[in-house]
Amino acid sequence: MEDKIKLQPSANEAAKANSNYLRGTIIESLNDPLTGALREEDQFLIKFHGTYQQYDRDLEDERKRQKLEPLYSFLIRVRVPGGVTTPQQWLDMDKLADTYADQEIKITTRQAFQLHGVLKRNLKTTIKKINDTLLDTIAACGDVNRNVMCSANPFESPIHAEVVEDAKRISTHLTPQTNAYHEIWLDGKLVEGGEKEEEPLYGKHYLPRKFKTAIAVPPRNDTDVLSNDLGFIAIVENGKLTGYNLTVGGGMAFTFGNSATFARVADVVGFFPKEQLVEVAEAVLIFQRDHGNRSERKYARMKYTIDRLGLDFFKQELKKTKGIELQPAKEYTFETLGDKYGWTKSEDGLWHYGLFVEGGKLTDKKGYLAKTAVREIAKIHTGTFILTGNQNLVIAQISDSTKPAIEAILKQYSVIDGNSISQLRQNSIACAALPLCGLAFAEAERYLPSFIDKIEDILKEYNLLDTPISIRMTGCPNGCGRAPLAEIGLIGKAPGVYNLYLGASFTGNRLNKLYKETLNEELILSTLKPILKDYANNRQLNEHFGDFVLRNNYLNPSAAEGI
Ligand code: SF4
Repeated sequence: MEDKIKLQPSANEAAKANSNYLRGTIIESLNDPLTGALREEDQFLIKFHGTYQQYDRDLEDERKRQKLEPLYSFLIRVRVPGGVTTPQQWLDMDKLADTYADQEIKITTRQAFQLHGVLKRNLKTTIKKINDTLLDTIAACGDVNRNVMCSANPFESPIHAEVVEDAKRISTHLTPQTNAYHEIWLDGKLVEGGEKEEEPLYGKHYLPRKFKTAIAVPPRNDTDVLSNDLGFIAIVENGKLTGYNLTVGGGMAFTFGNSATFARVADVVGFFPKEQLVEVAEAVLIFQRDHGNRSERKYARMKYTIDRLGLDFFKQELKKTKGIELQPAKEYTFETLGDKYGWTKSEDGLWHYGLFVEGGKLTDKKGYLAKTAVREIAKIHTGTFILTGNQNLVIAQISDSTKPAIEAILKQYSVIDGNSISQLRQNSIACAALPLCGLAFAEAERYLPSFIDKIEDILKEYNLLDTPISIRMTGCPNGCGRAPLAEIGLIGKAPGVYNLYLGASFTGNRLNKLYKETLNEELILSTLKPILKDYANNRQLNEHFGDFVLRNNYLNPSAAEGI
């Protein structure tokens, strides 16, 4: 199929092209003492540097009443390819959260760190200190390839370790080359004649939209690989990583009331040998760069490009641009999208502890000092910390001799053992939403824990507390919490009001569907209760909730109203 998109480019395209490779007037904006905000175009450009301008929506009315501008602050997203960090990096991030942010460390659904509530006057210092820890924020957001996700624990086996190295190689290769980042945040020298600087891969327009990449190692799909623009499924044959199945065109965001937008599970396109990995990643990125919709950002993600042009054209282009010919996809099986909790031992004799972090928010609260506990562990830990795509933390590579000390710290600070909580909570994800996300219609991270308390009452009644069911809540349909891939998906429409989606698989390869619209808490619970009861009584052996809902016709057209 021919590419017919020849419409007028959007204003964002001009903003990128005129930004002198992402410089814009960010320095001037940062130096303006009269406001806590940036100039409008810089608010767009700054995303490419890994930060978003936000304001506290809880204080909006009060600030207006006092005739003050909104309380602006910045989210900083720290890129962590594969989610692997050192104890020193953890301690540094912990200190930065206390000194410049809101004292919380947020683990994102893409294995990144996020700091919230950083004031403009502290933004440069904080980003510089993040770089001092040998982490960075470039391309953590913006129309570029973002943090490359990878299966949670690279130390689980030599294959996992190899795959994490592959994730890092992709990440490095697809990172923007502009010197703007160094100039603005790290006091790097201005590049003489900066306008001549080149982005060999991206060009001055970068990509049409954000671009997400992930790798999964079956049977665990803990990166939700099929929700990504670009994905790789590791293929292991005779104990060796021989290559990857390529997946393209996944994406979770849609807009209420616009049926031309949709969540989409990626297509598994074909297999290629491991040696071609970086080349394939680059070829897919180039395809999206050259064929993605640049006139309407709503339709600019890779999933719309694939939907519009088809897989045959995509494969032809891969061959044309890079000479890549895919083989038929190889067999693989996903069994879960969740994380492992508690203690596990790897082939090399080291221990790993999977720590449940509710909503990805590592914080200290009364009776549960998780942030302090991890800080104390970081002081004695000689292994690594791994941020997972389910917003949890793996304390990895613990020796027999260190294990008792770490166990003692977990006990001292009453850290919850993930295995002791309901399987629903274990498999829960919430996006950040209110009060800082400007797009949120409803609560998510602050509300989901107490909402799960109420569903747990129902699960207890039907003896389902130990049955794995995935639940995800987001404050809007933008997809950050990947709610369309949850067996119970709740997407915010208004304060306290959600659409309820059911019927996704437990392994991340089938989307849920709208079951009922515009429900408050009471209605969600009363809607779910009889279905859960039916599931408890009539499910087949090992049948997951999403599969049961589908098999029993809960999602027939008369049950679901259109989005
Ligand atoms: Fe904000 Fe929506 Fe993303 Fe949640 S899903 S963080 S509400 S944009």
